[in-house]
Amino acid sequence: MKAWLLDEPRKLRLETFEPTKLAENQIKVKIEEVLLTNSDYEVYCGESKRKYPFILGRNAVGVVSKLGDAENAFFQKMDRVAIEPYIPCEVCDECKNGNYEKCSDMQELGYNCNGLLQNFVDLPYQLLHRLPQQLSNEKALFVPYVAFCLSIIDALNLEKGRHIAIFSSTKTGLILAQLVSYYQAVPVFISNEETLLDTARDLGIFYCFNPDKVSLEDEILLITGGRMCNELVYFSNSNFNMKDVYTVASVNANICLAGYSNKESKLSVAQICKKHLNIFGVYNGAGNYSSAINLLVTNTVNVDQLIGSKISFDKLNEEIAKLKHEDLVLKSQIVKIN
Ligand SMILES: [Zn+2]
Repeated sequence: MKAWLLDEPRKLRLETFEPTKLAENQIKVKIEEVLLTNSDYEVYCGESKRKYPFILGRNAVGVVSKLGDAENAFFQKMDRVAIEPYIPCEVCDECKNGNYEKCSDMQELGYNCNGLLQNFVDLPYQLLHRLPQQLSNEKALFVPYVAFCLSIIDALNLEKGRHIAIFSSTKTGLILAQLVSYYQAVPVFISNEETLLDTARDLGIFYCFNPDKVSLEDEILLITGGRMCNELVYFSNSNFNMKDVYTVASVNANICLAGYSNKESKLSVAQICKKHLNIFGVYNGAGNYSSAINLLVTNTVNVDQLIGSKISFDKLNEEIAKLKHEDLVLKSQIVKIN
């Protein structure tokens, strides 16, 4: 078994371990590809601190290599699988009531516990989702993004024809905008990254604005006929002035703060009160993996333009050192494990 350990910011070490003995309800997965995302890169650079040594990697696909307790698993050797990275604690009140996706002490692989940048990993079979043949590994790596956006959709009050403002400096906003269209609401994609705005236009998102270049208030007044947006999504790893968000919101609007970035934004209590705003958070995509796989297979969500180039697992150390933040804004690189 091999894994890349992050010993300190920007210092990766390839470590070899003895093969582990498989526990009864677990499955040994041979990891084939891991997505290298902006969030992983932030951890690598030390912008987001971890307990070291730490194994990166939240989005991965692999094949079933060995079954612990085959009878209960519903999997077969060589099945291709996407890995759901959320492990509920099983002891909190929500878990005891069977609401695992609302667990108050959720562990997430590659986020608050060791991730998937390793060649073999033992996982509970509940975390694995078999992939249909038509879905490539590269597209399947985006299942966690789609699942997360589905959780946002679940939390919003989507109505046909309503304008939904999406503030996003990252590619996740592109996935959400496509889902909003699919559910027949109207996405308004707001970003300060021109590459993301261009890609959004390519994907058929009609309203795309850069708040550094246009007056958001004027544009949204115009397209909503003065009603402004009743539903807004703000990705917490974005770089926007919260004032822009309030300006675009109608009275009684719902604002969804999405993601788990460490970035802090100042919320104006006065604005929230004056406009009767309802603010809530969405944190992960637990429970939405099967739907996400389906939306990718049917190409309802198109991620072709988000797939970056491949990096060999053995050379990760050298390749990641050459990367810059800009390289990962639109495309995520893929670490290929032989
Ligand atoms: Zn729990």
